[in-house]
Amino acid sequence: MPKSATMKKARKSAKSAKKMSKMVYFFGGGRAEGNESMKNLLGGKGANLAEMAGHPALKLPVPPGFTLTTEICTYYWANRRSYPKGLKEAVELNLARIEQLSNGKKFGDPKNPLLVSVRSGARKSMPGMMETILNCGLTETTIPGLIALTRNPRFVYDSYRRLIMMYSDVVMEKAAGVEVEDNRGIRKQLEHLMDAMKARRGVKSDTELSADDLKALAGEFKLKVREVLGKEFPDDPMAQLWGSIGAVFASWMGNKAVKYRQIENIPAEWGTAVNVQAMVFGNMGEDSATGVGFTRNPGTGENAFYGEFLENAQGEDVVAGIRTPHPINEASRSEQSRDLKSLEQLMPAAYKELAAIRRKLEKHYRDMLDIEFTIERGVLYMLQCRVGKRNGPAAVRMALDMHKEKLATREEVVMRVTPSQLDELLHPVIDPKAEATTKPLGKGLPAGPGGARGMIVFTSEDAVNWRKQAKEVILVREETNPEDVEGMRAAEAILTARGGMTSHAALVARGWGKCCVVGCAGVEIDLKAKTLHIGGEVLKEGDWISLNGSRGLVYKGRMNMLDASESNDMLDQFLRLCNSVRRLQVWTNAETEEDSSKARKFGAEGIGLFRIEHMFYGKGSDEPLFKLRKMIMSKTLEERRSALNELFPHMKNDIKNTLRVMKGTHVTVRLMDPPLHEFVPHQKDKLQELASSLGISFEELEARATQLRESNPMMGHRGVRLGITYPEITEMQARAIFEAAAELQKEGFKVFPDIMIPVVSLKNEVVHQADLIHKVYGEVSRKNGVKLKYMVGTMIEIPRACLMAGQLAETMQFFSFGTNDLTQMTFGYSRDDSGFFLKDYLEKGILESDPFQTIDQSGVGELIKMTVDRGRRTCRDLKIGICGEQGGEPASVEFCHRTGLNYVSCSPFRVPIAILSAAQAQIRHPRKK
Ligand code: PEP
Ligand code: MG
Repeated sequence: MPKSATMKKARKSAKSAKKMSKMVYFFGGGRAEGNESMKNLLGGKGANLAEMAGHPALKLPVPPGFTLTTEICTYYWANRRSYPKGLKEAVELNLARIEQLSNGKKFGDPKNPLLVSVRSGARKSMPGMMETILNCGLTETTIPGLIALTRNPRFVYDSYRRLIMMYSDVVMEKAAGVEVEDNRGIRKQLEHLMDAMKARRGVKSDTELSADDLKALAGEFKLKVREVLGKEFPDDPMAQLWGSIGAVFASWMGNKAVKYRQIENIPAEWGTAVNVQAMVFGNMGEDSATGVGFTRNPGTGENAFYGEFLENAQGEDVVAGIRTPHPINEASRSEQSRDLKSLEQLMPAAYKELAAIRRKLEKHYRDMLDIEFTIERGVLYMLQCRVGKRNGPAAVRMALDMHKEKLATREEVVMRVTPSQLDELLHPVIDPKAEATTKPLGKGLPAGPGGARGMIVFTSEDAVNWRKQAKEVILVREETNPEDVEGMRAAEAILTARGGMTSHAALVARGWGKCCVVGCAGVEIDLKAKTLHIGGEVLKEGDWISLNGSRGLVYKGRMNMLDASESNDMLDQFLRLCNSVRRLQVWTNAETEEDSSKARKFGAEGIGLFRIEHMFYGKGSDEPLFKLRKMIMSKTLEERRSALNELFPHMKNDIKNTLRVMKGTHVTVRLMDPPLHEFVPHQKDKLQELASSLGISFEELEARATQLRESNPMMGHRGVRLGITYPEITEMQARAIFEAAAELQKEGFKVFPDIMIPVVSLKNEVVHQADLIHKVYGEVSRKNGVKLKYMVGTMIEIPRACLMAGQLAETMQFFSFGTNDLTQMTFGYSRDDSGFFLKDYLEKGILESDPFQTIDQSGVGELIKMTVDRGRRTCRDLKIGICGEQGGEPASVEFCHRTGLNYVSCSPFRVPIAILSAAQAQIRHPRKK
């Protein structure tokens, strides 16, 4: 190798060694090398353990331990599953530091052995997707020492059989890439051995097995491991430790973790950290326990400590749903745990300490936390804390409460709720009237919000397949596990027979804001027969059920659903707070009184798009549509004028109704846009009726209809082009708008009608149309003796309009981006037909997101920026908004805010989302006005 290349390589490796110089971070004994802000390097778990252990305001009882950084995970995968130099020594050094804080315990010491746990911890929590090994360090040599120390052989053999189970499953099978058929994995096989032992002893619960039983079981386990995996279970503590560390890093690329990352958009480069920590034992007897909790109720947001625990158990038992967890206090009691003793009752001193820690943690983190704890012989230890997942309604309630409690600023409140969580508040619920008169089949825990209905499926694959056939399904499972995530995603809702509020199903559903009921007592699932026994009924695959995820109820059948947004006080309070922060205005796209008033209730500040042609579709449209058709089929100006005169009162009334609801705000009425041919009837009888009303023959009418046909109507005679060909159509529309406004103004209403011209590409088009509109205004104003405040503006939907923005702004008083058409014309994708191939583009990563849903910021977005710039160079205060579908989508709202638009306009149900997104955009990118 030439000298310079060698030097370069040496420098490079020195650099990477320097970057990797600190590979292990220690915590314990009231000190920590890391802290909460180091999540990228230490993962969420490691960073928070460091914070709890070492922050002067906390110094909580955290068992000592150390974190191997996420950079090591990246190295491990980039270097054929090997470790950087020096890691071995760093691990040994930090292990010695744990030993120093462990009352003389030593890893592998036959007399006084230290055991450790080895856990994953990514930047963002991935519940249950990666692996954990507990009790690492138990061997034939250390077992007698631990028995002598604890005088509790049952506990020691229980810990040992758990270690063999976890290790053989996670390290020797999964991490080693051993392929197994369903239900033939080593863990299942060991579970069968345990069930057989329970059956032999005539006991139901594993806690009823004696020390001798467990010792014998451990022996059977080891034989089975050798038989199935062809290898001995390792009896060397260091081999166990490194095997466990490697397995946790390996689990980052495991199937379930990879799938979960895809759904949650977590990049593979992030990697996971590994936390090695001194074991404390919740399974040391009746004075020991392990539990999980939330500093507030994650289902309702109520300010009440909420948690579950199991006596004489280790961590995984609580979430695995093997035994019904006890409540930590009265506030956590459920139907299922009605008769069980609470932690407060069983171990009052430990509970008191835990409750004090809860307060300390909330004060410190100023947020709701999810915690894990263990009590070993009456002594409390904290094993984890992190900001807790919550559903939408709970997120809003907690944020508002914490604002009142001075734990969160106004800005923090706004940032605490994600747009999709807010969306949950607008979620459908089962019609309360129907619920009041229907007896539920079963009751479980309310694990995910809102209501849902669907057909029963029993496997994740069926959920995915049925969903592909556009069927609504509810995934019904004994309990879910991380392999089920795709099916859970595809289902409308999830129902499980077992598990608590912290079970896998509950955690995942809550994170997604999906309706979910867990731990539904009395449910029996027969997977073979594909039947569900519930409330004395037998339901089959494909039968409909409905769930109330906010109350934990299960109903038979397909119940009526209602929208939940009516008079929601919490939503109103939250939106008021967002309104006080944001600068970008939020308007709505609406045409009916009903939609307009719904949008106004949510806080819409105007109408950005009133599609005038809506009156020719849907309810009550027969008469105006017939008159429109007459107008379309007219041959002469006289015929057309007479048809327009007939149409005029309908149009005026329609506009008047919405202007009235929106009094005091701008209502942007867009002139007729669709190609006229769209309105020509297809049925013979309708054509016949039209012909006789026009006094022409059927053949003549057919000939006129054929003349109107276009081969590419979206690029054809539509939008402003209609008004250029038939100025009388524009005149009639302008007259209807101004007359409606003048009448209302005379009645004492404040109205601001604006007229918007669609599908423009030339300056002369808008000059021509604006002249007509101003002329009509003069006539209406004189006739009624009123002066109206109105504006004339244009839509920006064609790339040429963007280029000509400077000229258009000479006559136009506002611009509104029609990003549906602008996207269509910029990409050259038909907005009506592109769904079919866009799907492939998205799946293959050719496009990152669907540009019809979120603004394509690098292409269409550049055109928007240029338009704003050119338009405002001509007219500094030019008002600019957006009324395409993207106007209610959070990332697009933020883009509009950053680009200096005055408003976004979206459908009524997206108004709250746009309000929140605009407020968050202001916090992230403050602008003056
Ligand atoms: C648009 O093109 O973005 C728009 C709002 O108009 P329409 O969807 O009615 O074409
Ligand atoms: Mg359009």
